[in-house]
Amino acid sequence: MAKYDYDLFVIGAGSGGVRAARLAAMSGARVAVAEEHRVGGTCVIRGCVPKKFMVYASEFSQAFKAAEGFGWSHCEMTFDWGRFLEAKDIEIARLSGIYVSNLQNAGADIVHERAELVDAHTVKLAKSGRTITTDKVLIATGGRPTTPEIPGIEHAITSNEAFHLESLPKRIMIVGGGYIAVEFAGIFNGLGVETCLMYRGANILRGFDNDVRSHLTGEIEKRGIKVILGTEHSKIEKTPSGAFLNHLTNGHAEETDVVMYATGREPYTAGLGLENVGVALNERGAVVVDEFSKTSVDNIWAVGDVTDRINLTPVAIREGAAFAETVFRDNPTSFDHDTVASAVFSQPPIGSVGLTEAEARHKVGKVDIYRAVFRPMKVTFYGGEERMLMKLVVDAATQKVLGCHVVGPDAPEMIQMAAIAIKMGVTKQQWDSTCAVHPTAAEELVTMRDKYVPMGMSAA
Ligand code: NDP
Repeated sequence: MAKYDYDLFVIGAGSGGVRAARLAAMSGARVAVAEEHRVGGTCVIRGCVPKKFMVYASEFSQAFKAAEGFGWSHCEMTFDWGRFLEAKDIEIARLSGIYVSNLQNAGADIVHERAELVDAHTVKLAKSGRTITTDKVLIATGGRPTTPEIPGIEHAITSNEAFHLESLPKRIMIVGGGYIAVEFAGIFNGLGVETCLMYRGANILRGFDNDVRSHLTGEIEKRGIKVILGTEHSKIEKTPSGAFLNHLTNGHAEETDVVMYATGREPYTAGLGLENVGVALNERGAVVVDEFSKTSVDNIWAVGDVTDRINLTPVAIREGAAFAETVFRDNPTSFDHDTVASAVFSQPPIGSVGLTEAEARHKVGKVDIYRAVFRPMKVTFYGGEERMLMKLVVDAATQKVLGCHVVGPDAPEMIQMAAIAIKMGVTKQQWDSTCAVHPTAAEELVTMRDKYVPMGMSAA
């Protein structure tokens, strides 16, 4: 008889946990996965996937505007939030169902309960009180939104609630300058909500290339989002009418119907019993792991946002796959976290891979910059003002392309392809030897011949 009930017990059925569980089970391991909410995790249930549906829904208003310039009329349509939510929930349920059947088809057991570690080989289920023994454990519990402690913060929602608002507000204040804040600002603005984005710093999207940051700010302002920089809440106050008065550190007050905080996420390690087994956490509460995702405890691994490496779904999936390959297929595999591309589904969206100009200057010293800012042909046709930004960061000494940054329609689609070349170490000469695809906006990427020199600076 086997020593333990399972060979692997996975806590958390999100992107990383499900991939690891499936691959381990397909390798012949006896696997169980515990999930306290719905199978699919943040990405499928309350993250990337429903967010993308909301982006699609909200983009139509811009498309209707453009349509008139192309000869269409009567483009003023109305949007039914309730009908959209219903359709979105049906699709999310379908996708979650696919995750469930994929796990089951692979032979993994799903435990619909919260699980906590009692010791390194025993988990206890919160509802039933049942204990289960396991040879190995994988922690894949993801992250959850954090909000600062300011007076009235209990009135604010986070992205978790934004997916289920009973009705579309007339006015919203979104706080934060990261991925979630700019994406939801675009969504609500596109859906006709009067949208204000407030960020504490001098420019949104810290960590992105500075040109990308300022270009996006200008573009979202053009689309009607009010951007308030260098400002925070001093207090959120509920008014008798049920609206909220946002008291700001710049001395102003703004009334909105909803206040949404998108001020980061924290690793979800609380209440997992990690202290019972001595799994080491860092100062942010993330599980500390080595390159093979192994924790400080010999039979326990962790993947995904709970480890706070690069908090993106495809990264969690690759970490989960590498874990299964290493531990259940006897093939030590570590995921390479270098040069991971990412997209921000702001409106317009961003695609970015590799080093920013500032990072590249810091790392290699001298860099060549290639940059284009232009109105795509679709925009010029209907007389729009939206501009696209493309930027290449090149190591001046080796001519290797170190970074590619795009803001504009289809940027996320373009960046996937650029990431392949950059990951392979492409030089600017090789990049330019690629013939353009015409007529596209992307062709601009391979036709930037002249180095960009900011006004007032010499080329040397
Ligand atoms: P981010 O870490 O991207 O951004 C958090 C923002 O909140 C920053 O602008 C930060 O400011 C600000 N902030 C933090 N603390 C405070 C505070 N106390 N008061 C005011 N502002 C504050 O977090 P998100 O919540 O936007 O997203 C979480 C993660 O989820 C992302 O980092 C990303 O990894 C992932 N994600 C990825 C998406 C994608 O791939 N498209 C989409 C959505 C999420 P400052 O810069 O000054 O620190």
